[in-house]
Amino acid sequence: MNLSLLVGNERVKEQLSQQERGRGLSHAYIISGPAGSGKHILANLLAKAMLCTSKSGRPCGRCGPCRKVEKGMHPDVSIITGPAEGKPITVDQVRTLRADSYIRPNEGERKVYLLEGADKMNAPAQNAMLKLLEEGPRYAVFLLIAGNNGALLQTVRSRCEELALTPAGRGEDSGDQSELAKKLAGALSRAEELELFEASMELAGKRNREELSALLDALEVELTACAAQGGDRRRLIRAVDLVRELRSAARLNVNAGQLSGWLCAGIFTPFPERD
Ligand SMILES: [Zn+2]
Repeated sequence: MNLSLLVGNERVKEQLSQQERGRGLSHAYIISGPAGSGKHILANLLAKAMLCTSKSGRPCGRCGPCRKVEKGMHPDVSIITGPAEGKPITVDQVRTLRADSYIRPNEGERKVYLLEGADKMNAPAQNAMLKLLEEGPRYAVFLLIAGNNGALLQTVRSRCEELALTPAGRGEDSGDQSELAKKLAGALSRAEELELFEASMELAGKRNREELSALLDALEVELTACAAQGGDRRRLIRAVDLVRELRSAARLNVNAGQLSGWLCAGIFTPFPERD
């Protein structure tokens, strides 16, 4: 498997690669770990891997399905969040999800459901989820994102493969890297000038080329997540384009200070009129 976008966590990468080579990827994963450990990066990679049409090195990141997942536009990938900010997924939502899962995939071989804050679901919701894990259709894949896997019922855990992530890399760096990516994505999606300026100043800190490009990768994933959660699509797609431009520039040895200036300037240039 091609999981190079996930920083560190070699053991988890090896676990998944072995599984893919052996009996194939599972239909249910619990992706757990503290904030900044790369849970969403891994979930995004797994969703792509499930739908990627490349023969090897999945996810390839280049085929049609990979690109659609990346843009949050693949019809066979659903992200389920609670009914309101900070509210956990409810039993009714799990029932709706269950009904939806019995409708065959639109385009791919599989349907992927990503459940945010799965560890916050109450017991009835978790039990409904358990039923789905036990009896759901074969093409359905469930990715349960959990800050604390200990809060999931043992019965649910026993039905899933557990992928426990740790903030990896050099000391505090990569944890702080994905925090920064989140901050930047939030600022970009809200177009908060001050917030973005502050986050960019952090970006301008001492970062080598490798760290910078890992940060830009993480930022792209975060922006895609924002778009999938109903952010301003036009602005977010533009931000993703901008990040891609920045990434090619980062390869050409531009420093972080220049990049942050570019990011700020790019996002606040008025939108070109479309005809
Ligand atoms: Zn692909």
